[in-house]
Amino acid sequence: MIIDAISNGIVLDHITAGRSMELYQILKLHKLKCSVAVLTNVPSRKMGRKDIIKIGELIDLDLNVLGYIDPGITVSIVRDGKLDRKFTVELPERVVNVIKCKNPRCITSTEQEIPHIFKLTDKEERVYRCMYCESRAKGRD
Ligand code: ZN
Repeated sequence: MIIDAISNGIVLDHITAGRSMELYQILKLHKLKCSVAVLTNVPSRKMGRKDIIKIGELIDLDLNVLGYIDPGITVSIVRDGKLDRKFTVELPERVVNVIKCKNPRCITSTEQEIPHIFKLTDKEERVYRCMYCESRAKGRD
């Protein structure tokens, strides 16, 4: 499938099928003025099905958020019509203000100003724990 080639922008490839809309929301892509293309259920030899997002502008991406939501996404940065950089996002060591602590006694529940910081404590199981109270974040698949 060929969508207009972008001359300056970012392509997020190998997104787990069905996860692109979640990324769209979290990365706040609806706030951009540039064109954004979301392709879902694209046939993939490696993954069976995958989603792809094409952003027609070089925006600042929060790679920690990307890596937390869907590690394995391939990011391609296109500059002047040429591939400038390509890399895969990995599970981040810590995420800030992505997950909220569910513990009602946690300091982040009572103090609104405190950032919600979670640290990766088990890479295999993808376990994240609150930096303040050690509560475990709800796991993802
Ligand atoms: Zn907590």
